[in-house]
Amino acid sequence: MNNYLSSENEKLCCGCLSCVYSCPTQALTIQERFDMFSYPQVDASKCVECGLCSKVCPVESYDKNEIISTYALKHKDAQIRKASSSGGAFTAISDYFLDNGYYVFGSVFDEQYRAVHMGSKQEKLRDKMRISKYVESSLKGVYPEVKELLDNGEKVFFTGTPCQVAGLKKYLKREYEMLFTMDVVCNGVLSPKMLADYLSLCTNNSNIEYFACRDKYEHTWADSQTVSLKSEEVNLKYLGAFYKFFSRSYSVRPSCTACKFTNKYRASDITVGDFWSLKFTNKEFVDDLGVSLVCANSQRGKDLIDSLGGSCDIIKTDKQKTIAGCDRLNYCQQGNSNNKMFWNYYKRHSARKTFEIYAGDSVVSKLMRKPFELITKNK
Ligand SMILES: Cc1cc2nc3c(=O)[nH]c(=O)nc-3n(C[C@H](O)[C@H](O)[C@H](O)COP(=O)(O)OP(=O)(O)OC[C@H]3O[C@@H](n4cnc5c(N)ncnc54)[C@H](O)[C@@H]3O)c2cc1C
Ligand code: SF4
Ligand code: SF4
Ligand code: SF4
Repeated sequence: MNNYLSSENEKLCCGCLSCVYSCPTQALTIQERFDMFSYPQVDASKCVECGLCSKVCPVESYDKNEIISTYALKHKDAQIRKASSSGGAFTAISDYFLDNGYYVFGSVFDEQYRAVHMGSKQEKLRDKMRISKYVESSLKGVYPEVKELLDNGEKVFFTGTPCQVAGLKKYLKREYEMLFTMDVVCNGVLSPKMLADYLSLCTNNSNIEYFACRDKYEHTWADSQTVSLKSEEVNLKYLGAFYKFFSRSYSVRPSCTACKFTNKYRASDITVGDFWSLKFTNKEFVDDLGVSLVCANSQRGKDLIDSLGGSCDIIKTDKQKTIAGCDRLNYCQQGNSNNKMFWNYYKRHSARKTFEIYAGDSVVSKLMRKPFELITKNK
């Protein structure tokens, strides 16, 4: 049975669900725990010890491409850059695939503001994939759907976190000429439960018109740690909590603090991120609307980037300096050593109380947090 399903190694599991959809006896099902992260759950009575779940697990191993070349990219259409997280690389690349009859897969918010992966040939749904959702995006049913499309001769452009792309490739077990992949430079994903409670507290459970983890209509690219929320009611007291959790690494998926994918060895053809370090090397290319860092990880990824000159301004950058200037192309985040205590507290108290203590800045919240932080130090 898969090593990562045992409790002591479980923190390495990134929730890609490759094992769940590969198990020949359906011994594995998807379990959503209190934090609402997805994990495989084993029914030992159905397991025949075939070992397939280990073979398809990307944490065990994955086929790696080393980054070939790096670029700074800005979409020429300012409206597209405004609607994107950084320089609009995803839109430029996915436009190419939509024009060529591909299904584009990526993360969208559903009606309840749960991040879920979906695939479509429609520009309208692709547009909803724009903007980073910094929570786990559910892959329920997605890998089998991609496989079925590919087996039926359809073309697929799959985007996601590095572990999601690596997981898809392990699940598929073989190369498909008609599959092209893009991953993001990845700091990790936060808990869907935290986001659901956050939205409920911020809106007093009123109707949400709009929510985005980043927004360039009201803020600049540099203010990336600012949410945008429109609803019937907005309770300002909790509005900053999402990024307090983000910056304090509370509620991050445990696998993101022991991640094997946040380095220069990628499972994808192309990697995209925010080019924060460009101001040190090519200041004249930087502006308030944002610049994408783009890595070509395969020859076909490189060929595609080379063909984007019509829609984007692109400069080739120094590969060593670009990689060195981006932490998440070198190592993963450390996480917060009190994350376990945070969850224990969350399970025993209301979301309101948990948010007030763990996202709060008042002296009282700090004092309330402190005993827990002292008790759990170095654990
Ligand atoms: C969870 C997460 C963490 C990130 N951490 C960093 C970081 O530390 N440093 C950095 O430089 N860049 C990071 N990025 C990448 C960055 O936020 C932008 O996605 C990137 O700059 C591309 O910008 P764009 O303008 O091309 O993207 P957009 O048009 O905003 O495209 C968004 C792309 O991200 C995908 N996506 C959105 N949310 C999720 C999700 N929850 N799970 C999987 N895929 C998702 C979409 O499917 C789409 O492919 C992160 C992205 C995500 C999703
Ligand atoms: S060892 Fe085989 S049967 Fe058992 S859980 Fe893994 S894939 Fe399923
Ligand atoms: S990382 Fe993916 S394949 Fe490995 S145990 Fe977790 S869900 Fe299964
Ligand atoms: S940090 Fe690693 S484990 Fe976490 S979502 Fe990103 S690639 Fe996956």
